[in-house]
Amino acid sequence: MRIDLISDTVTRPSEEMLSVMMNAKVGDDVFKADPTVNELQEKVTKMFGVEDALFFPSGTMANQAAIKLHTQPGDKMFCDKWAHVFNYEGGGAAFNAGVSSHLIDGERGMFSAEQLRYAVSGRADIHVPYSRLVCIENTTNKGGGACWNFEELKKIKQICVDKDLAFHLDGARLFNALVAKNETPKQYGELFDTISICLSKGLGAPVGSILLGTKEHIAKALRIRKLFGGAMRQAGFLAAAAIYALDNNVERLAEDHQRAKKIGKVLKSCSFVQSVEPIETNIVIFYLNNTIKENSFVAKMVEKDIHFISMGDGKLRMVTHLDFTQKMLDKLIVELQSF
Ligand SMILES: *Cc1c(COP(=O)(O)O)cnc(C)c1O
Repeated sequence: MRIDLISDTVTRPSEEMLSVMMNAKVGDDVFKADPTVNELQEKVTKMFGVEDALFFPSGTMANQAAIKLHTQPGDKMFCDKWAHVFNYEGGGAAFNAGVSSHLIDGERGMFSAEQLRYAVSGRADIHVPYSRLVCIENTTNKGGGACWNFEELKKIKQICVDKDLAFHLDGARLFNALVAKNETPKQYGELFDTISICLSKGLGAPVGSILLGTKEHIAKALRIRKLFGGAMRQAGFLAAAAIYALDNNVERLAEDHQRAKKIGKVLKSCSFVQSVEPIETNIVIFYLNNTIKENSFVAKMVEKDIHFISMGDGKLRMVTHLDFTQKMLDKLIVELQSF
């Protein structure tokens, strides 16, 4: 039994999801003639109470399109030093939009409104790149699945309004945050100018992300998606999986969170573990003490067909997901406790 905790992107479509995909009505989405893509876009538009939505092949492309549509070359955006848009998108903000990133030194991938207010100051000075965009991530990936405090987000929004900054949410795992904090999509739809959401992570679709925004933003995003090479033809097969995922796999994210918390508890009791980051959603980040090296721990677990990654700086990461079952959890616990 392979136990794959490398990422929540490793899930494969279930039989039921596959059959929905195989039976999807499709058309050429470049001509807006794919009924299933249109249905998906309308569904999330309503769900979040926003004006419009656009289907993308990846979360990276959705984020990059958002950064591009809010900025001009030479502008800068603000994000946390651990942000995916800065660390894990290949330098895309600089490459695609000509934008520099002002990194804020937050906690677990989150910064405060006060830190942002301080960072934005000095904009009138012509030496300073023009501040145009604030980008936050919920849940935070490198921050271990941490969820933002919504009250803090409202304060950040107020700064964006006062300083005429666009506000983008990298919501790759937004549904994990909504389930964990009992929040609603509409709360977020109201607060942000644009939101990207991955359908291929905890929700279990094989491919695809969504970008949400006003009609004007999405009209721009449509041109940028074409320019990036991301306009697809019969994408309804993928959109069908996404619709199925939204209908069936949201509430169950709570199970992934419970299992992650259980893993954290067991790790804490292991003699070779130094510490475990607080666990709010489906990501477990932990550190070993000096009794064993990270690489040899990872390798020994691979021998037992248990897979997870080292993120550098001593961080080890396990991510729970749709295809990580109770049986796998039980086996993982036995292997950790007898290690
Ligand atoms: C996964 C992820 C993305 C997008 O990733 P893709 O693999 O391009 O879909 C963006 N932001 C965060 C925080 C992520 O974890």
